[in-house]
Amino acid sequence: MSINHLVSIADLSDLQVDSLLARAHEFADTTPRRGDLGSTPSACVQMLFYEDSTRTRTSFESAAARLGYSTCLVTASGSSVAKGESLRDTVLTLQASVDPTVLVLRHPENGAPAWVAQGAWCETAVVNAGDGTHEHPTQALLDALTLQRQFGRDGLAGRHIAIVGDIVRSRVARSNALLLPRLGMKVTVVAPPEMLPADIAEWGVGSSNDLDGVVSEVDAVMMLRIQKERMSAATRLDTHAFHAAYAMTTERAARLRPEAVVMHPGPMNRGIEISDEVADGPRSLIVQQVRNGVWLRMAVLEALAVGRG
Ligand code: ASP
Repeated sequence: MSINHLVSIADLSDLQVDSLLARAHEFADTTPRRGDLGSTPSACVQMLFYEDSTRTRTSFESAAARLGYSTCLVTASGSSVAKGESLRDTVLTLQASVDPTVLVLRHPENGAPAWVAQGAWCETAVVNAGDGTHEHPTQALLDALTLQRQFGRDGLAGRHIAIVGDIVRSRVARSNALLLPRLGMKVTVVAPPEMLPADIAEWGVGSSNDLDGVVSEVDAVMMLRIQKERMSAATRLDTHAFHAAYAMTTERAARLRPEAVVMHPGPMNRGIEISDEVADGPRSLIVQQVRNGVWLRMAVLEALAVGRG
């Protein structure tokens, strides 16, 4: 299976989604370590990160190493980006020096990875590793992989997931809202009115302001971080009120169905959207999400490298 770029979940056909998840399950079942797989085709993965990252960055690097691919990392601070070099000039420079097969790009502006991928000057396969508030497709795919490993590969149809918290600023919510219904899941986004996007009616998912009203009806809850770095200075955030109505606390978790699971893309604001007891408790799949991110990103990098021959 090959893909050209992965900028949005909408870029993938159902067959491509199924193939990526199937390949990621193979990796999860066999847990290849560094050096276990030959690099066929050999590939170089250029990581270009204009925003901070722990999980996405390290899991792409770990995935590349396990495939036998080389990596190069450039972050905004410590590179000529900090001197004002443009995104296009930076990509052209990396193409000339590193000659990457795949460019993994994280950028604060919505649409930056799509813009690079469409450039006549772009010679690499582009993966969106998170663009502003827009999309984070590999996060949604690893979330789907995690849910399939929990409920079975054919076990998502008819399941209900609540995605809870700062929806309007969440690229994770957007990508999951595009992906999970395609796998048969019912999705309800839950947030205070000011954290629901104005265009929520067009997302094709349910929405609610009442977490207590939905908590006992779902098979999974995906808690989201409040993204203070994307809030305007004028935004007044009452974290106590948010916590009281929207946090996954021990009391709320006790009202979940017996088999229901709790997810979070990380980084967590412990004590705000999720309590320590729930984050570290038996329902939590948070560490598995990180682990599954490696297998899923192996599948994505391999499909992109195959696409580049
Ligand atoms: N790590 C995720 C992202 O980059 C979620 C978050 O930052 O809250 O979008």
